[in-house]
Amino acid sequence: MDKKMFPLLIALLLSLTSISCDKSPEGNKQDSQPSAQAPAAQTFNWKMVTTWPPNFPVFQEGVDRFANDVKIMSGGRLDIKVYAGGELVPPLQTFDAVSQGTVEIGHGAAYYWAGKIPAGVFFTSVPFGLNAQSMTSWLYGAGGLELWQDLYKDYGLVPFPMGNTGVQMGGWFNKRINSLKDIKGLKMRMPGLGGKVLAKAGGVPVLLAGGEIYTALERGTIDATEWVGPYHDERLGLNRAAKYYYYPGWHEPGSELEILVNKKAYDSLPADLQKIVETSARANSLWMTAQFEALNIKSLNVLQDKNVTTLKFPDDVIRELRKLSDEVYEEQAAKDPQFKKIYDAFNDYRTKSQAWNKISEAAYQEALSLK
Ligand code: CA
Repeated sequence: MDKKMFPLLIALLLSLTSISCDKSPEGNKQDSQPSAQAPAAQTFNWKMVTTWPPNFPVFQEGVDRFANDVKIMSGGRLDIKVYAGGELVPPLQTFDAVSQGTVEIGHGAAYYWAGKIPAGVFFTSVPFGLNAQSMTSWLYGAGGLELWQDLYKDYGLVPFPMGNTGVQMGGWFNKRINSLKDIKGLKMRMPGLGGKVLAKAGGVPVLLAGGEIYTALERGTIDATEWVGPYHDERLGLNRAAKYYYYPGWHEPGSELEILVNKKAYDSLPADLQKIVETSARANSLWMTAQFEALNIKSLNVLQDKNVTTLKFPDDVIRELRKLSDEVYEEQAAKDPQFKKIYDAFNDYRTKSQAWNKISEAAYQEALSLK
């Protein structure tokens, strides 16, 4: 260091001091560290609607946590007020409310909008689709999320995955399912593409909201139902309305849940707040997915203590359902190019993921059960 450097250093120090002095007292209070991109002082107040009942464990709970985390991480600059399904808009109008900008953000599941966007079902769950782990790797590691974002672009929406139920149960029945014949005429609550497969198998799919299922099954308005997994099913009391609890949930092997953000509202946020929304969605996705599995493990024991008969669908029934599922996919793909595009990508990933999982996760689970 020679003498020539001193004037430069002094000039630099002076300029730093002057930057610091120029800052408003408020700016200093918020952040005394100069940063490349100083956060804007503007506060955003958002409304968030969901498809879930108030206090619905894990589902609505995860949304409340998301909003709370955003508020903390943003120092209150992004304040999201959460409304459960029906509190501000009916549950199934969540998509439209966010798309039209009535509210800025929502939470639900893409297969609820199948009437509007049939291709969206791949981003919740489809019969013989991806399990939670493969869904996560497809979305975050193999282009799935980009396809999803592209699909929602036309609706002025930005989607973020948040939560996965894990593999669901096959459902509650009052008679044994020994062959596909036992499904003929069976009135069963089953949403999504699973319902279409059930219809092909001769069953009668019925659409019912969560709150209506128990009474319908108990009164015999429906013969069978699927819901989620041991935790949510036991909470609904379905074990008191049906004898047999079948597995696996071939129709919903891991339902991904979604955050919908109005694109204009999202674009109006500074980069740090956008990042906070994305990061909070990802953090609570982990929280929700972990809750589903941990609570199901616990509740399976509770159900077994109550002498619930858990039964595996016979292999032949599963093979038939798989065949019918492929027919449903092909038919839908033939009439909807958007569906075909996503189906092709999904199918390609499913094939590759299955080859790997056969010698990784599945082989390990098999090894674990050998004693
Ligand atoms: Ca379900």
